[in-house]
Amino acid sequence: MEQTLVLIKPDAFGAGHAGAILKLYEDAGFKIVAAKVMRMTEAIAAKHYVEHIGRPYYAALVEFMTSAPLMAIVLRGDDVIKKVRELNGATNPADAAEGTVRKLYAADKTHNAVHASDSPESSAREIPIFFSACEMFD
Ligand code: ADP
Ligand code: MG
Repeated sequence: MEQTLVLIKPDAFGAGHAGAILKLYEDAGFKIVAAKVMRMTEAIAAKHYVEHIGRPYYAALVEFMTSAPLMAIVLRGDDVIKKVRELNGATNPADAAEGTVRKLYAADKTHNAVHASDSPESSAREIPIFFSACEMFD
């Protein structure tokens, strides 16, 4: 079964929206198979966001992601990668559809509430950055 890495970023986690966001995913039929609250370090950020190193927004992104705790989650289900990105909405909350996480909870392109893997390859690369096999359950 397909799985995806979700991060409830420091803005949404700090504002107390983790429960509401997890409910959206669970109501869509997805199972939480791993979860933790943690603080992202610069080293973890450089691994997770490796393809963004050198972009003009990278420094602000890392500063934000390391600024306060976040919640890391692995969700499992049919077509979960694409469907969770649909539930999350567009990267820029100004473009996000009604009812999506980013429309509901995000402020701007940097502070955009959530991350989700964008492909099976990304999911397979990202999940081990945050979880070991013994932290994930069926
Ligand atoms: P997504 O998170 O929707 O997959 P990207 O992978 O393109 O989006 O970018 C990763 C993260 O980097 C975004 O979620 C956002 O926090 C930040 N980001 C991307 N593009 C910009 C931008 N133009 N300005 C500010 N932050 C950005
Ligand atoms: Mg991305």
